[in-house]
Amino acid sequence: MNNEFTITPWEVTGEIDYDLLVERFGTRKIDDALLDRISKYGELHPLLRRGVFYSHRDFDWILDMYDKGQPFVLYTGRGPSGHTHIGHLITWIFTKYLQDVFGAKLYFQMTDDEKFLFNENLTLEDTLKGAYENALDVIALGFDLKKTKIVVDTECIHTLYPIALKVAKRVTFSTTRAVFGFDNSTNIGSIFYTSIQAAPAFLESEMEKHNVPCLIPCGIDQDAHFRVARDVAPLLGYYKPALIHNKMFPSLMGSDKMSSSQPGATIFTTDPPKVVRKKIMNAFTGGAVSVEEQKKSGGKPEVCSVFKYQYYLFEPDDAAVNDLQERCRRGQIMCGECKKLLADRVVTFLEEHQRKREEARIHLEEFLMRDP
Ligand code: SF4
Repeated sequence: MNNEFTITPWEVTGEIDYDLLVERFGTRKIDDALLDRISKYGELHPLLRRGVFYSHRDFDWILDMYDKGQPFVLYTGRGPSGHTHIGHLITWIFTKYLQDVFGAKLYFQMTDDEKFLFNENLTLEDTLKGAYENALDVIALGFDLKKTKIVVDTECIHTLYPIALKVAKRVTFSTTRAVFGFDNSTNIGSIFYTSIQAAPAFLESEMEKHNVPCLIPCGIDQDAHFRVARDVAPLLGYYKPALIHNKMFPSLMGSDKMSSSQPGATIFTTDPPKVVRKKIMNAFTGGAVSVEEQKKSGGKPEVCSVFKYQYYLFEPDDAAVNDLQERCRRGQIMCGECKKLLADRVVTFLEEHQRKREEARIHLEEFLMRDP
């Protein structure tokens, strides 16, 4: 395994060694005992069974509190730099599962301020528009309106700012430099920003005027923000937010993270069927150099982006995904047929999602949190 990889909230490059990340970040792997415990509350989600959600901080404590009758609030989010892609949906689908199983309230943060600060090419109008567009994808997944609030940073700043200030007062420049790699050329908004990302973790405690545990499902790349939030929490009298981390959703070109900056290797939720099919038919696979060779020696599903798509999201049946893996290894299925099967699934999923996404427009305002 190549240990040369970079993973920060703004950059993921190289072949990620997820076990090494657990060590580096000091998180804990979700082990069989924890999976067994989670299964007592509801059927294990495939993303848990298959180890896509694989790491945590204090998730066992969240369950302890829940068992004692103390409900928790969920918090996740999105940096609205453009259209939502399928990789983003992983965390959101899992968050919905947690909402359904535990009946938890959700704060969904749209960090339009962050994307403005960290991206030279985006205006505030762009990122706010992105936030509203991405919110449609969130709503389309079926979150419970009574238990979900979408928090657009620049539009809820009156609510977030006092909490962010309390956080900011306890975080030094030296900490942000060490955690995020900032230097003297970093704009001062970026340096302050992590305190805004911390704020929703404490929002329910502020609103309810007593401490409420918070669980944050997020990509492991976002862990740095919440390490800062967790360090500060006890100083401010809050519980430390707990986390549950997912691995990055792979790119269609074979790298470890799907990215909006590679549109050809990324399926957006707004892509029409023809575009989706074209992207999948051009995807990187673990196939052999020729059909004859593949029939003889088989393919390599472990490096194949088409297989990873099925494994992560599009084939929920464990027996079926194992069967695909075996047939690939034995050379009993060829890449052309396999890509077509995936394309059919993704197109079916997106047609339904896009229909719900349009319906979501009429509910958007009800989901948005508004400053008092
Ligand atoms: Fe990937 Fe399918 Fe080809 Fe196997 S047959 S390498 S799983 S595309």
